[in-house]
Amino acid sequence: MSDLANTQPLLQVDDLRVSLPTARGWAPALRGVSWQMARGQTVGLIGESGSGKSLTALALMGLLPERARVSGSIRLQGQELLGLPEPQLCQLRGARMAMIFQEPMTALNPLHPIWKQIAEPLRLHRQLGESDAKARALQLLERVQLPRARERLGAYPHELSGGQRQRVMISIALACNPDLLIADEPTTALDVTVQKEVLALIKQLVIEDGMGLLLISHDLGLMQDQVDRVMVMYGGAVVESAATPELFAHRAHPYTRGLFAARPRLGLARGTRLTTIPGSVPELMDFPAGCAFADRCSLAVDECRLTPPQAQSIPSKTADETRHWVSCPRWSWP
Ligand code: SF4
Repeated sequence: MSDLANTQPLLQVDDLRVSLPTARGWAPALRGVSWQMARGQTVGLIGESGSGKSLTALALMGLLPERARVSGSIRLQGQELLGLPEPQLCQLRGARMAMIFQEPMTALNPLHPIWKQIAEPLRLHRQLGESDAKARALQLLERVQLPRARERLGAYPHELSGGQRQRVMISIALACNPDLLIADEPTTALDVTVQKEVLALIKQLVIEDGMGLLLISHDLGLMQDQVDRVMVMYGGAVVESAATPELFAHRAHPYTRGLFAARPRLGLARGTRLTTIPGSVPELMDFPAGCAFADRCSLAVDECRLTPPQAQSIPSKTADETRHWVSCPRWSWP
């Protein structure tokens, strides 16, 4: 899917396919994912659990299970990442691409003070000595607006609140000025007001540093304010992608329409039943060979189950200059 043809992509993913070993054989977990991102762009990935969002992030970071079968291409500023030996990938992780995980309490080491955990990538990738790394850790904590940062350099994770721990995780991710930041449900464990603060902080830092951001969330409301572009995943494939205002106003794919119809909204009359998408996400081995959504789609015809739909560019309803892509020959406007 190309909507930034005249700029050098920061990240280019082409026909990324991942199969995972299961007791029933090799299961196709990513089924030809293609997209690109420019420096400074923020892209959101949404979809139900099991749609392939987190697996996409792990593939970008080179953190797939050892036995996974992978094909396609992932290029970071032109450099192919698939097939790189682990020591080279290790050099890139933290230095040029970094990830913020869902639950900082499990991602942080409970036995080390926070400054040491921020200093670790600086010592590994930038060869900083202890006092320089500690000074840089303080700068980073001040940048992510951790209250009383200097006093808290020696604090342990359990001494901080959930929001403060997530600020520490962001500091670690930013330590070496990465080009690409991946945030996988970074605010799931936080309450609603802290979620907004943390996401706004991530967005501000991404813009200031000119990074690319891939934000993964199942929360459509949070996504709306944070990203330039949204990709919707189902069954290991991107089924629709568009500029955020376009997608939130006009959805063309039957799955995207179902996903948005099912979200809780303010102002619904008491007792109103939420619309749901029929059925549930199948086991990986049970997706149809053609369109992954075929067993849950009211518009499905026989051919849908046999032939994977191709992504096609459709006219933007909001006159956005980037393209609206949809993988369904029976797409329509609501
Ligand atoms: S390709 Fe067929 S099954 Fe898939 S979303 Fe479109 S109409 Fe539904």
